[in-house]
Amino acid sequence: MASKITITFPDGTKKEYKKGVTGEEIAKGISEGLFRKAVAVKINDEQRDLYLPINESCEFKVLTFNDEEGKDVFWHSTSHLMAQAILRVFPESKLTIGPVVENGFYYDIDHPPFHEEDLEKIEAEMKKIVKENHLVRRKEISVAEAKKLFKNNKYKVEMLKEIDKFQDEGSTGKKGVVSVYEQGEFIDLCRGPHLPRTEMIKAFKLTKIAGAYWRGDAKNKQLQRIYGVSFPDNKQLKEYLEMLEEAEKRNHKKIGEEMGLFAHFDLVGKGLPVWLPRGEIIRGEVESFAVETEREAGYQRVSTPHLAKKELFEKSGHLPYYEDSMYPPMKMDDGTYYLKAMNCPSHHLIFSFRPRSYREMPVRLSEYGTCYRNELSGTLNGLLRVRILRMNDAHIYCTKDQIEREVELVLKMIKQYFEVFGLKNYWLRLSLHDPSSKSKYIDEPDNWLYAEKILRKVLVKLKLEFVEKKDEAAFYGPKIDVQFKNVYGREETMSTVQLDFAAKSRFDLYYVDDSGQKNKDVFVIHRAPLSTHERFMAFLIEHYAGKFPLWLSPVQVKVLTIVDRHEVYADRVVETLRNKGLRVEKDYRSETMNKKIRDAQLEKVNYIVVVGDREAEKVTVNIRTRDGVIHGEKHLDKFVDELVGEVKQKK
Ligand SMILES: [Zn+2]
Ligand SMILES: [Zn+2]
Repeated sequence: MASKITITFPDGTKKEYKKGVTGEEIAKGISEGLFRKAVAVKINDEQRDLYLPINESCEFKVLTFNDEEGKDVFWHSTSHLMAQAILRVFPESKLTIGPVVENGFYYDIDHPPFHEEDLEKIEAEMKKIVKENHLVRRKEISVAEAKKLFKNNKYKVEMLKEIDKFQDEGSTGKKGVVSVYEQGEFIDLCRGPHLPRTEMIKAFKLTKIAGAYWRGDAKNKQLQRIYGVSFPDNKQLKEYLEMLEEAEKRNHKKIGEEMGLFAHFDLVGKGLPVWLPRGEIIRGEVESFAVETEREAGYQRVSTPHLAKKELFEKSGHLPYYEDSMYPPMKMDDGTYYLKAMNCPSHHLIFSFRPRSYREMPVRLSEYGTCYRNELSGTLNGLLRVRILRMNDAHIYCTKDQIEREVELVLKMIKQYFEVFGLKNYWLRLSLHDPSSKSKYIDEPDNWLYAEKILRKVLVKLKLEFVEKKDEAAFYGPKIDVQFKNVYGREETMSTVQLDFAAKSRFDLYYVDDSGQKNKDVFVIHRAPLSTHERFMAFLIEHYAGKFPLWLSPVQVKVLTIVDRHEVYADRVVETLRNKGLRVEKDYRSETMNKKIRDAQLEKVNYIVVVGDREAEKVTVNIRTRDGVIHGEKHLDKFVDELVGEVKQKK
């Protein structure tokens, strides 16, 4: 047997080591710094503990907190640290599971409700364990041994029974053998890997307590879920907590309520936001902008019913794959109907309503289409997860030769929108098919090859930042998604452009070519640059923190009087602004000027205008903005002209 193995590093360099070398030793050989930061290693595609011997030649990577996978190991290790502390402080509690979430970790514990003070106690105990600096070590034991070890915890015993069957959490891939992780007196069932030493968890914060059911089932016992987050140093924790605080200030639910943009009513139901007058203004402005942009780009608007016959969704292929996401069917005297969850099928019917000549291709049909999604009440979240959504939808029907230009035009439209809204930090994701998973994708290899090449070419040409994702395409074709990080640092999809090879045969789409023949090679592009009203509004509210630019702002100007006798002139100012299409409110209350200004600032009104004797006499206004900047006196006509210009430029 060879006593040497070859380790291949991520940059491609290879080095020989003696067989049985550990990840820790390799990291140390590279640098002391890397050794201290190392949380685990990746051997080929598998994450492993640092201190385990490596016996075969492999690809090798040291994971640190800066890698997504390293972060997960770090956070999951902190959930063990928290669990250990909980057992020390509350020995009667029973641990269940403690996975990683998007920003940190949680552990579900069977214990009476915890209080804020309890979190402080747990945190203090965690600090002690960090200082004690236990080694964290993996052990493989038999299921029978493990059952003995966890005999006082019915949850772990239940899991152990299933591990034999399903080889999940704690499984080692070996029949009847599970892995456990030990640190000091604490031992937990776990698949791993883990940080090698508790001292590495230098900074952490327990952020939230919530109720959760065992296995997510309301029929089971309610457990206590404690969330937390951790970092390798205090600076990163501080920055994260500051980001969170800032994000909370921008939260669309909070601002939406404060500014009176939208509301939810119990009597209407969950996930069904009601747009209040001020929110409806913003929604309307975004829609008008889209309608105008699409008109200039040669789109034709259509309007389709909110419900349609079952047969339509069968024809489109959405039933039965999509049935769970749709509302239950309605039986009527002439058949079964569904609320639509997508607009495409009706648009396809409009395209094939009459023969299309090659001269009119491409045909671009657009609609702010209302769709309904059957979401469980527990998953609903503000405007981000709703049961009704109005989509900035359009379907482009084009020939194969036209795909490239049409995709380019859509991407340019997206770019143009984002410039107007001042959105900069986005990137694109090109989702491709995987030729080896045949059943997952429509069987048109030439079209796949062609379309994927074209999409990539356009992205490169437009100099857009993008990543390629294999095996992530839709069944019917490749797609491009526009990705964002929201104020919480969470990645979200904003816009989408999808190519569709399947619609043509399902809906017998064709055009008549220049020799009078039917050509069935009609490609469909589904696109939604501005997402849905709901999602886009949530995003805009958080992006602007409620301080909307003038063209979107529900109240653009507020006119304030100093004393009663100024009302006549103030009315004239209001009238003049309104006649130019500006949204104006007045504040003639007999409050102090400071209070009136402050209230207008809190309402995030763009321009606050004060009028008194001097202004009335000279037909001027005294202007300040919501940021507290005083712009001084200006002639009324000049002010109006400037505002009209600002709205027009969408600045
Ligand atoms: Zn674990
Ligand atoms: Zn569609």
